[in-house]
Amino acid sequence: MLRLLLYITVLMLTAVLLARLIEVPGYVDMVWFGWYIETTPLFLTLSLLGLFALVIGAFWALDRLVSLPSRYRNKRRVEYHERGLSALTEAIAALSVSDIANAKKLTKRSEKLLGKTPITHLLTAQLARLEGDEETATENLKRLLDFKETHFLAARGLLEQARKSGDVETAVTYAQEAGSIRPDSSFAALSLLDVYTHQKRWQQAIEVINRAQRHRALTAVEASRYKALIEYQHAVYLYDRDDFSTAQRYAAAAHKTLPDMVPAAVLLAEIFSTLGKKRNASAVLTRTWKVSPHPEVAAQYKKLLTDLLPEKRVTAMEKFVSVSPEDMESHLAVAEVAFDAGQYGKAREETRKALNILESPRACELMAKLEEAADNKEKATKWHTRASKTLIEAAWACESCKKHQPQWTLHCPDCDAFDSIHWRIDRHRKAADTQASTAVDALPLLKTH
Ligand SMILES: [Zn+2]
Repeated sequence: MLRLLLYITVLMLTAVLLARLIEVPGYVDMVWFGWYIETTPLFLTLSLLGLFALVIGAFWALDRLVSLPSRYRNKRRVEYHERGLSALTEAIAALSVSDIANAKKLTKRSEKLLGKTPITHLLTAQLARLEGDEETATENLKRLLDFKETHFLAARGLLEQARKSGDVETAVTYAQEAGSIRPDSSFAALSLLDVYTHQKRWQQAIEVINRAQRHRALTAVEASRYKALIEYQHAVYLYDRDDFSTAQRYAAAAHKTLPDMVPAAVLLAEIFSTLGKKRNASAVLTRTWKVSPHPEVAAQYKKLLTDLLPEKRVTAMEKFVSVSPEDMESHLAVAEVAFDAGQYGKAREETRKALNILESPRACELMAKLEEAADNKEKATKWHTRASKTLIEAAWACESCKKHQPQWTLHCPDCDAFDSIHWRIDRHRKAADTQASTAVDALPLLKTH
């Protein structure tokens, strides 16, 4: 609107000026390059205006001509960019449906069109990893370290790679780098914790937990749990080196924080027994039995009863398990001691109670032993068969790889996951074991933590 008003004003002014020039009487005489020119002021003005327009036009035409190659280049660049982005989108789509060959071809095409960008490096790294080409994956991840947007992602990818190849020192470097970029990242904190615990660097592991808690990478509950796990590991380390009194201090700290942690209670009781403090050992095991009745705790308590007469052991065990009277393990613990003492009637009664709660292989086997002791071979065989057929099993199992383990460890012996082993009563183990993950994780490097 403003522009229209301006045009109208300019036109009107021009018209007024021309009208004035027509009205102006007289001639203009001039000598130009030896030429004598006589003309009217109107013609002279129009000629000058025409000349001015001609010069402007010539400049414009020249500019268009000169800028032609760069305009052509710009147009090509925009086209390349658009085609590159399209190839990139198609590459990600191909990767998400596991069409690796196509994803690779499209990534190469997008790299040609867009040049080497963080996203093409990321895709190349991801594809290389899927194909097991660790060298190319590492090379591309290292390039991602140079980009601010992908620095953390690259450090994390390189850390995972170092851990996989068992290169602990490189893993520490990248875990520290990831932690310095994102101190609030639980992944970075847990990774550092993981490598430090592997290296038995307990003090540094505790410092990592404290820092992670300050930056809210770990909750207070997680932090105190992990500290207790490290205290326990430290206690095991000291116990193996016969430093019982320091081991006792660390094991007691772990047991105080996590009274339900079976290995900590068993170790602390073992240390107390070694130091001749049987009452303390009994108190520790009772505290744990109350919250976590577990066969290893019962077995440790049984060790405290070796000096007693067999029938006294049964009474002592009955008293011990009375803090968790309804638990299957309480019945089994008494049944086993009663069997050893030759009290078959009590053993049978307690095993029946355990079987009524859960038909576990251990209870079936105990029943088989009782039938064998009573010389009922046929019934014993039946119980053995029942034991082998039951799908129920209580065992230490890894939450990450689902495999059963003979004992608790801080890292899973199979998949190396940290704090993944838990006691589990598995009712469908055979079915669970056949479940295999077939889904392809399109961009596992992009996991969020
Ligand atoms: Zn595992």
